[in-house]
Amino acid sequence: MTLGKYSIGIGDRFGRQGEAQLQALQLLRKEGVNVTPVWNKSYREHAIINSKPADTRAEADAAVRALDWQEPYFVDADHVGMKTVDHFITASDFFTIDVADFIGQSAEKSTLEEFVERNRKFAGALHIPMIPEPLTVTSEQIATIGANYLFAIEEAQRIYRHIAAQKKEQPFVVEISMDETNAPQTPVELFFILAAIAWKEIPVATIAPKFTGRFNKGVDYVGEVHQFTREFAADLAVIASAIERFNLPAGLKLSVHSGSDKFALYGPINAALKRFGAGLHLKTAGTTWLEEVIGLAEAGGEGLVLAKAIYRHAHARFEELCKPYATVINIDPDRLPAPDAVDGWEAARYAAVLRHDQSQPLYNPHFRQLIHVGYKVAAEMGERYLQALDQFRPIIAKNVTTNIYERHLRRIFL
Ligand SMILES: [Zn+2]
Repeated sequence: MTLGKYSIGIGDRFGRQGEAQLQALQLLRKEGVNVTPVWNKSYREHAIINSKPADTRAEADAAVRALDWQEPYFVDADHVGMKTVDHFITASDFFTIDVADFIGQSAEKSTLEEFVERNRKFAGALHIPMIPEPLTVTSEQIATIGANYLFAIEEAQRIYRHIAAQKKEQPFVVEISMDETNAPQTPVELFFILAAIAWKEIPVATIAPKFTGRFNKGVDYVGEVHQFTREFAADLAVIASAIERFNLPAGLKLSVHSGSDKFALYGPINAALKRFGAGLHLKTAGTTWLEEVIGLAEAGGEGLVLAKAIYRHAHARFEELCKPYATVINIDPDRLPAPDAVDGWEAARYAAVLRHDQSQPLYNPHFRQLIHVGYKVAAEMGERYLQALDQFRPIIAKNVTTNIYERHLRRIFL
């Protein structure tokens, strides 16, 4: 099974929406565009939900069977490191190796010297096809990039080999992610990071750098769209050139971890992919969970009661729920409605406040971010929440499918 040119990470926190998600990909196929589904879930999500990678595998297999999906699909061990990867070996065939924590740690002096020596030929004016101006690179810069990133790439190699030793003959997809860090990587840094990956012989399929701007959970991009667009195009050019120069896998592509719903970027990304003929992996996480809450609210009755209870608890536990996500959310508590006021809302109002439709005046990104990080509340409701997902399945499924199809897939890949 190959990942293909286009793929999408469809996180599903509670593991009940596999079919509804896959339906969105089927709809896109009818329009002539193939996108490979990848069910991604991190160790942290599994721990909070109290689920296991085998559950994600079972969900994916069941959805594929139910819809008679004949195309490739994958199960992603999302953001794993050496400490967590073993939980995922059997169930996953896609591994997002996260080495962000190792950026800035120094490799052996001799390794670093060898890296600089191997890449010295790129010092001066570095011409990359499709980038109008040559990039200016100095030997000192190569040494600095090596000092920052080489150890992280060596860690990726250790994890890759650890997986490969256990997977034996079974093929798997490798992503290297560096997005959960403070400083974005420039196109020049990406070029030499890819040089290091090739040198360390990691058969990387996708790479997730940190892009410029803020990718807050569940809401739109905050930053300079023009600057993002320029850097994104330069990254595509760097990848195409690195595939040739360093003999990296031909299908190597960028992975954009959206933190869900970076709609302002989808148009520019779509245009850049077409201009370069490039592939993309778009990873979403949390957008489906939000659609579950929207569906519950829209259902009215007990569903709406539950959606209101989720908000009330999340509001009461604001500090605790926000803390682990502090760097990727921006919630103004003064813009959050009082739970007592929310209790008076009708179904349509709750859905309109939460749904990511910026043309809707009621839409409240603060409310939405709090619910985004509040899935722990639903996890703690246990059976009550899961039973509601079953009880209101059709209306929830409709929201899940429409969201992925209309707001994500069509905008970015069509
Ligand atoms: Zn990520």
